Amino acid sequence: MEKNSTMILLTSDVPNKKETVCIFGTGDFGRSLGYKMMQCGYSIVFGSRSIQAPGLIPEGATVLPYAEAAETSDVIILAVQRVHYSFLENLGDILRGKVLVDVSNNLKMNQYPESNAEYLSWLVPRSKVVKAFNTVSAWALQSGALDASRQVFVCGDDSKSKEKVMEIVRSLGLTPLDKGSLLAATEIENYPLQLFPMWKYPIYLSLALSAFFFFYCVIRDVIYSHVEKGKDFSFFIAITIPNRVCPIVALILLALVYLPGIFAAILQLCRGTKYSRFPDWLDQWMLCRKQLGLVALAYAFLHVLYTLVIPIRYYVRWRINSYVLSQVFNNKTDPFNYANGWISDSYVALGILGFFLFVLLGITSLPSVSNSVNWREFRFVQSYLGYLTLVLCTAHTLVYGGKRFLNTASYPWFLPAAYILSLIIPCIVLVMKFFLIFPCIDRPLTNIRQGWERKPKDLSQKNSSYCRSAV
Ligand code: NAP
Repeated sequence: MEKNSTMILLTSDVPNKKETVCIFGTGDFGRSLGYKMMQCGYSIVFGSRSIQAPGLIPEGATVLPYAEAAETSDVIILAVQRVHYSFLENLGDILRGKVLVDVSNNLKMNQYPESNAEYLSWLVPRSKVVKAFNTVSAWALQSGALDASRQVFVCGDDSKSKEKVMEIVRSLGLTPLDKGSLLAATEIENYPLQLFPMWKYPIYLSLALSAFFFFYCVIRDVIYSHVEKGKDFSFFIAITIPNRVCPIVALILLALVYLPGIFAAILQLCRGTKYSRFPDWLDQWMLCRKQLGLVALAYAFLHVLYTLVIPIRYYVRWRINSYVLSQVFNNKTDPFNYANGWISDSYVALGILGFFLFVLLGITSLPSVSNSVNWREFRFVQSYLGYLTLVLCTAHTLVYGGKRFLNTASYPWFLPAAYILSLIIPCIVLVMKFFLIFPCIDRPLTNIRQGWERKPKDLSQKNSSYCRSAV
């Protein structure tokens, strides 16, 4: 034992050495955190059930029984699973007034009625419990791959203890984020269990839209041709139909990025204030706009790839060859159609420009890029260029339809082409936006967004009659 305490004294004498911190538990997380802390100059004393130090313990660290280890430091990091916390009850006196850092996670969301940190604070009421480090993995600590999870959420009821833990977090090269009192621990403990929370709805929605339009196109292009004309176009399922579905889903998702902003503007105009909460569904929708846009970009990218392979498709080559041969055999030539030349070139040009701006929007939504532009620049790109992208992509689809909109042969079984359906939401968004930018609507909306509030009628009437009587 003497040997151990001498070692602690010696480490604290070394210049640049930080304080001694105690870690309870020599499991994966305890060892990794201890290793990282030692690299950053801390002296580490492990509290363990067995002082037979196994070979995995970081070199230079001390291993003591829990009670003795706790005496060496004012900060104790508890790297033990919640189910084993009961041993702490016997250490109540030693842990009195000490900062106890709870790093634990659960296997399921809201697994227990209270958070692990609140349970710990109930078990050891006289120590100051702080929740931290649970979003950092043992692997990242050991391998140094902390870029993806540099943020450490911290919460606790004692502000001094919380500051002390945040200081440790900073000295490890991580970024502490104060989440407030221990009540926030449930939320922090749920973070690592979330599975792409912001991506869930955009992905479900895109899959549902893809499935719907895929089957719609199969009915219209494959089943109809088979039943009514006896032709087998089942191979359309491989490229033709996916190349219809991808741009349709991309366009609808892009329009859905801007639709909640329109709803929000209408709500604010009706309410005459920005200080009342949006309904939850609108809040959720606004929060996942970036993800909706990125999924839309992925679909647009697939559409570009499918389009690039068109010239090498057997079906396309066969059609061109048979058309040319039939022209030769019949000794016929078609005069050049200038209208078709314009339609075809504008269709492609609008698609290229739309896709270019789409990619630009995607790039500016990356954290490393969006962090390097100011708020006005970000708004310019995401709002103005975003609407321009929507206009170009909608125009691309409209020109694709060209003269076919009014052709009755384009409605087999009275089903409009899928691209016509895809135009509904984008056109609604663009028309509504067009009205919103009218000065008579835009001015009050801008005022509301700058904090102006419309007074309720009876209140403004009372105020004016009060003013008159005062005069
Ligand atoms: P682990 O490998 O199972 O280690 C837990 C340690 O707790 C054991 O090594 C043991 O240390 C100690 N312990 C105390 N009483 C015990 C008992 N009755 N039975 C068994 N062990 C007991 O777990 P871990 O992965 O290090 O995780 C520790 C805590 O960190 C957990 O609460 C976990 O949620 C949290 N966490 C882990 C990670 C990660 O990446 N692993 C990330 C964030 C948070 P001794 O043998 O020295 O007594």
